[in-house]
Amino acid sequence: MRIQLLNEELSRKIAAGEVIERPASVVKELVENALDAKSESIGVALVDGGIRTLAVRDNGDGMGADDLRLCVERHATSKISREEDLSNIRTLGFRGEALASIGAVSRLRIVTRLAEEETAHELRVAASVSEGILTAARAKGTTIEVSDLFFNLPARARFLASSRSEFFHCNRVIHRLAACSPAVGFTLGHGERHVFSSPPVADLRDRIGQLYGAEIARLMIPISAEKDGVSIHGYVSSPQVRRGNRRDQILAVNGRPVEDRALAYTLATAYRGLLRPGMHPLAVILIDIPPEEVDVNIHPRKMEVRFSRQQVVQETLTRALQDALSSRFVVPSFSSSDRGRSAYAGTRDNTPVDGQELELELQRRIGTQRPTHHDEKVRVDRERRVIGQFQNTYILVETRDGLEIVDQHIAHERILYERLMEQFKGGTVSQQRFLLPVRVELPFESANVITSEKDTLAKLGIDIDEFGGGTFLIRGYPSIIVKSQSQYGFRELLEKIVDQLTDGTELRRTLFDHLMAELACGAAIKAGARLSFDEQQELVDRLMTLDNPYTCPHGRPIIFGIERDELDRRFKRR
Ligand code: ADP
Ligand code: MG
Repeated sequence: MRIQLLNEELSRKIAAGEVIERPASVVKELVENALDAKSESIGVALVDGGIRTLAVRDNGDGMGADDLRLCVERHATSKISREEDLSNIRTLGFRGEALASIGAVSRLRIVTRLAEEETAHELRVAASVSEGILTAARAKGTTIEVSDLFFNLPARARFLASSRSEFFHCNRVIHRLAACSPAVGFTLGHGERHVFSSPPVADLRDRIGQLYGAEIARLMIPISAEKDGVSIHGYVSSPQVRRGNRRDQILAVNGRPVEDRALAYTLATAYRGLLRPGMHPLAVILIDIPPEEVDVNIHPRKMEVRFSRQQVVQETLTRALQDALSSRFVVPSFSSSDRGRSAYAGTRDNTPVDGQELELELQRRIGTQRPTHHDEKVRVDRERRVIGQFQNTYILVETRDGLEIVDQHIAHERILYERLMEQFKGGTVSQQRFLLPVRVELPFESANVITSEKDTLAKLGIDIDEFGGGTFLIRGYPSIIVKSQSQYGFRELLEKIVDQLTDGTELRRTLFDHLMAELACGAAIKAGARLSFDEQQELVDRLMTLDNPYTCPHGRPIIFGIERDELDRRFKRR
């Protein structure tokens, strides 16, 4: 399709605004154009973080001389022409403003050639003034070079960060776009340095490997779900991989990387209990949806979208995440041979067991209670036979394929946590009332916090009153937890609660999560505690009934596995 100027009425309907803030904004617009031009390979070269020069070279459709003349005009686009097109956008661009905006604040040079033409054409623009079109030579495709960004706007130039930091932003933009288009090859250079090159790949996991490294790619879990025309696929990280920020969460709608708080929240929710609060998974989530159901024309940077059926999208994503995260945990395995495959996932069989007597014994010793109304959920993996306890800290387990080492403290913590969570979700955490309240002294400043959060604590099964002068009386405590809590434990926990509550940045749900994790941790059997053989077996059996027996609420591994094959190899049996 040829470039046309949009009529005034239509151009008024397009979310307007300046979009060129820094080199990364230029890179984003130019790479999007290259993708829209159906390029198979896109090269980006930066000098000084893109401040001095940045160039994007593609092998896409290219432009003829007439289009070249028009493309730097405002509201000039080949991607839409009528108002109806706005509700059916299949390209990354459609505003027809990027090249005009870039040409207004830099020295711009475009060299481009259509496949069917013999010669290429070149156009230069500086601060919106274009020179005449020249002939040039190049293969099919387009190269756009932007130099001296903001040379005519010194005030804005001063707001640019260091070239390192501008480079970082450019790099991120390219990563995001590359993750959404695995079939397109990308290269990035910075000055003399070759930063990365990722040839076209068929599989998204391979693209993730190119961008984040093979080790991370191996630990990614595929997700996929489809419902009512919404189709979602991608990869999310297993809980062993975690980041302190959300930067490596890429969400794309019809190939367009977007920011969507609701969907980001859905992702965070799916990892509740799998990661320590404040930690975030990596994710590349690609959503495909009929274009007429997405409005991308709500923000000039095209970074936000609105779904006409937000609910369906949300539900589909939730299901995709739940399916992936509940069943496919990869045990941190010692094996070096199996790429992506876990020898331990999928070997659980689900034979019910009658553990009445063990239950009583375990309850007496480690203070957990098997929920009677959930008995149908209690299943045991007979594949796991306890060998014994190692230094009163680890339980050694024989499985069909090898040896597993279970951290008894973390295993128990996980069990308690799940139990608490189950009760919490069910609306009531069962509480044990004390005959004599437990007295706890807390720093004076804590009093207000505890008092104002009485309801929060009550939801967790903690009933606490201020007695005065920094003394508190605990009258009730979650019964799952109560047995093994020492008085010292109470105080420590309350101090942590106060810390959490005063750190107002945490989401409420994260807070509950955190508190439950703290409760479970404080009450779990400690490393160094001697357990009877039956207790060990019961602990392991019970661990295996959980949806995720492999990682604790803090994200630490619970089970470490060594395959028989690996042992044989180490002993040179093969
Ligand atoms: P938009 O992408 O919103 O249409 P732009 O200002 O980014 O607006 O680009 C204007 C037009 O220039 C595009 O519609 C397209 O026809 C053409 N164009 C820009 N970059 C390229 C490219 N790399 N290859 C081919 N055509 C391009
Ligand atoms: Mg564009």
